[in-house]
Amino acid sequence: MSSNQDIDRRDFLSASAGMTVAGILAAQGSAGAATPEKLAIDGGEKAVTATSTKAPRFGAPERAQLDAAIQQDALFYWGGPQTNILKERFQALTGLEHVMTCSSGTAALHIAVNAAGIQPGDEVITSTVSDIGTVIGVIYQQGVPVFADLGPSTLTLDPADVERHITKKTKAIIAVHLAGNPSDMKALRAIADKHKLVLIEDCAQAWGAQYQGEPIGTIGDIGCWSLQNSKHITCGDGGVVASSHPVYGPKLQLCGDKGFNRTDRAWQGFATNYRMSETQAAVVAGQLTRLEEIASTRAHLGDLLTKEIQGIPGIAPHEVTPGNRCVYWFYMFRMDPAAFSCNRATFYKALSAEGVACSPGYIAVPLHRNEVFLNHAFFNGQWPVKDLGLTDMDYTKEEVPEAEAILTSGMRVVIHESNTEEQMRQTAHAIRKVAKHYAVS
Ligand SMILES: *Cc1c(COP(=O)(O)O)cnc(C)c1O
Repeated sequence: MSSNQDIDRRDFLSASAGMTVAGILAAQGSAGAATPEKLAIDGGEKAVTATSTKAPRFGAPERAQLDAAIQQDALFYWGGPQTNILKERFQALTGLEHVMTCSSGTAALHIAVNAAGIQPGDEVITSTVSDIGTVIGVIYQQGVPVFADLGPSTLTLDPADVERHITKKTKAIIAVHLAGNPSDMKALRAIADKHKLVLIEDCAQAWGAQYQGEPIGTIGDIGCWSLQNSKHITCGDGGVVASSHPVYGPKLQLCGDKGFNRTDRAWQGFATNYRMSETQAAVVAGQLTRLEEIASTRAHLGDLLTKEIQGIPGIAPHEVTPGNRCVYWFYMFRMDPAAFSCNRATFYKALSAEGVACSPGYIAVPLHRNEVFLNHAFFNGQWPVKDLGLTDMDYTKEEVPEAEAILTSGMRVVIHESNTEEQMRQTAHAIRKVAKHYAVS
């Protein structure tokens, strides 16, 4: 679809104008200037020149807890001082009553699905644009992930499409706050209440996000967090699952610890071992003291980028509902393919050359378009619930057009708490410059 002739003509025009870089910049400053700025990829000036240095992720708060842990006689979670400090700090941040630490975000979600009572053949509606950890627990419990479509620029579940997917087998919804952007929890809560579904929140990418002033993970029945290294609060690998629900809350510990009730020493259910050790908990306890600063900075920088790229033809900024706090685990704008003479790969190369840390898309394909889903081959080639007739799910027939389009027309921009406002403004300028260059007039 890229029109080389068009690009060549533009290059020719800007070169033939015989202007200096300063002249081009001056021309660009005047409204409606006919000569576009020369792209960095064509030898022009880079739009992003401001730099910043990442502060160390770990320091005094983590060291203090680790030192304390090393002086303990035991590093086991049950009754562990570091685990208790982590829990207290987490409770102070979220107000959630029952908190279980665990080995990963995937584990947190598996614990949640088990505690929620998902049974073989039960359907769980969620997003297909996510980490596969969102659905691993569902599949291990012999539940059936059902994928609803997403909002085009929120990248989160479209509540109307969630409702369309409800059947008499539906038991739960997992709302993924993708990129740290809160899902429409009011609508999802209403749907869950109306149809008596368990509402689980996947907050893996959303540490410190807020839904209408409420901490993320507290509107649903169970909240799940990841502490994997790429998340903005981490201990390398780990997770937290939490709930104030009177039935599911007390089950979280059992579902993360082999079903073992450590108070009366009885196995009260079937679950695997997803425990987190005291050394990991120590690091997380330290990390949590940094959360508000990290989350508020990221929110501010991402919102600033949105403000600065507002109104560029063919570019849709990351959409955040007013009153919510998105923490931008990544920032994603959507490109309207019809608005540009180039494809996304070319746009990406040009934007990178301007000094923008970006990448096209997110995961390669929606979850359900991976081979293991298309072949319904989760358990070494078999899928018991399908073989037993408990589901007639056919992932080759799933239709989620917006989710597909997000992955083919989204551009991911890195936002980091160490970034400066100047970097965001220059990033916006780069997007504007590249968009203008390739605009279909
Ligand atoms: C990272 C992530 C997970 C899984 O977390 P792990 O700690 O890697 O198991 C689940 N859901 C989402 C949205 C994630 O980003």
